[in-house]
Amino acid sequence: MHEMSLMGDILQLLQEDAAANGIGKIEKVELIVGEIANAMPDALRMAFEIFRDENLHLFTKNAELVIQLEEAKAKCVLCGKEYKPDQKIALCPSCLLPSGKVLKGETFQVLSYEGSNGK
Ligand SMILES: [Zn+2]
Repeated sequence: MHEMSLMGDILQLLQEDAAANGIGKIEKVELIVGEIANAMPDALRMAFEIFRDENLHLFTKNAELVIQLEEAKAKCVLCGKEYKPDQKIALCPSCLLPSGKVLKGETFQVLSYEGSNGK
């Protein structure tokens, strides 16, 4: 599952950041995920729960993952029409060519996270 490795990378970063900032256990992680970022929110949640349960030194037992979806948007470079692509290479509905430039929807990043200060 592709989302396992995405989530693994994120948790690695969080772990380092939390250690650097003296944060004890992480309680909440907020991600922004584009609709065409090639990451399924349900699979991300499942991956998060697996990692959380395996890393209870790093997370509280009820730590949660919050996902904000970023809507996808593309603009055709030929006719200028803005439309909602359902994948990275999507046909412009007017030109019927894959001439759209993706403006939004490919984001995949951590917005924020919260944790206790441990001691
Ligand atoms: Zn077009």
